[in-house]
Amino acid sequence: MKEEIKVYDNVLQLIGNTPLIHLNTITKEFKGNFYAKAEAFNPGHSTKDRIALYIIEEAERAGILKPGDTIVETTSGNTGFSIAMVSIIKGYECILAVSSKSSQDKIDMLKTMGAKVYVCPANVSADDPRSYYQVAKRLHEETKGSVYINQYFNELNMDAHYNSTGPEIWKQTEGKITHLVACSGTGGTISGTARYLKEQNPGIRIIGIDAFGSVLKKYHETREFDSEEIYPYRIEGLGKNLIPTATDFDVIDKFVKVTDEESAHTARELAKTEGMFVGYTSGAAMQGVKQLNQEGEFNANSNVVIIFPDHGSRYMSKVFSDEWMTAQGFFDTKNEVDANQIEF
Ligand code: PMP
Repeated sequence: MKEEIKVYDNVLQLIGNTPLIHLNTITKEFKGNFYAKAEAFNPGHSTKDRIALYIIEEAERAGILKPGDTIVETTSGNTGFSIAMVSIIKGYECILAVSSKSSQDKIDMLKTMGAKVYVCPANVSADDPRSYYQVAKRLHEETKGSVYINQYFNELNMDAHYNSTGPEIWKQTEGKITHLVACSGTGGTISGTARYLKEQNPGIRIIGIDAFGSVLKKYHETREFDSEEIYPYRIEGLGKNLIPTATDFDVIDKFVKVTDEESAHTARELAKTEGMFVGYTSGAAMQGVKQLNQEGEFNANSNVVIIFPDHGSRYMSKVFSDEWMTAQGFFDTKNEVDANQIEF
């Protein structure tokens, strides 16, 4: 984990201790104080560096991983990048089964970091043999000396955040945090961070961000899996079509659902208002905060921490492309597309 030293032995020492940044403009009309936990400041540019390092080092401590072994994982991109980065420094092979919903940028980055990448169809059920879960399982079984990180069903995912993200936020806010808002995919970030924070102060409100098309919010409310909730959506890394055991639903107070379109616009707005070039799910988290503000969730004394999971550079061909936004029908007028572009 990152310490204040001048020279680092390798990139892994820069993981964690990410900054907490006050939001000044986008929240101007809101009640309360709002802070972004900017996970793009990790060396792999996302929160997933924390779990990659933690889970791999736990496997080393348990004697499961030996030099030259192979690490297998399913990923929407960020976890894969982080595992590939940790594998390079520590001398492991890295095999990744990724969803076809992942951007080409992300897939190219994984290959650049030395990973072997299998692209699997996004819109098949989790138990379909073509799904990235099943492909990863098969690759793990076929590869001798391999470890399957299995982030959706690995409690160590939660523990990584319990031991780092949670204590950091508690310290950075000097214990004054009243609300945590975080996207839920595997649920590791929100559950681990929330567990730590609720141990310090059980009154802290924990709010998860879910996508329309995902089962998490309904499951939280009913404890029943409702397949009717499932349909394709565009945000990558947020929401799920299954119930991950890496999520502790009991520490989450409520879920808010956000749309693809509003999350995309809010991600672009964060760049223009706060100068923060962050990813699609950061836009989704901020969009959730807007909705919560309207619902009256906050008051003047609220200190709200919003986790921004990754960097905007990973979405150049998507949310930050005018062509992509237009193709999704997310721009209403020609003017909106061209508002920033001056041609001679
Ligand atoms: N945002 C992005 C961009 C992600 O890749 C992920 C991980 N799937 C999340 C948010 C959600 O984090 P978690 O898996 O810890 O719930």
